[in-house]
Amino acid sequence: MGFNRRKLKAEQKAKANAEAANRRATDVQMLEDAERLIAAWNERQTICAPMIFSPTIGAAIGYWFLWVRCPACRTINAIDLRTLDRHNDAAVTSLIPALSCRSCRPNAPFAELVRLSRTSIADETREEHRRRVFEE
Ligand SMILES: [Zn+2]
Repeated sequence: MGFNRRKLKAEQKAKANAEAANRRATDVQMLEDAERLIAAWNERQTICAPMIFSPTIGAAIGYWFLWVRCPACRTINAIDLRTLDRHNDAAVTSLIPALSCRSCRPNAPFAELVRLSRTSIADETREEHRRRVFEE
């Protein structure tokens, strides 16, 4: 390999490394932003504050489970966002019309979004059970 080709190769490698580092930094920043946004949104949902913003499906990385409550029968369900065929840039609130309670159909009210969670309801129940067992 001549000098120029070696130099070119080294430059290409440096450029690729810089781009990869940049991408990693952006990913870390993106995850931090998403985490903060979801925490803020969950907090607002807990106190039933008016909806002034909504995380996107794409922002809910790790927080795959959207907990929804039926205002009529009070049933809570958790939707696994990974199983949906929706655009990542769609707000989780855009799912509301599709989340009406099955047992209250045909007159089901719109579902209430409870929170985005790392755990499903089954996970939570298991954890609850484990805590009870260990405390006794
Ligand atoms: Zn219901």
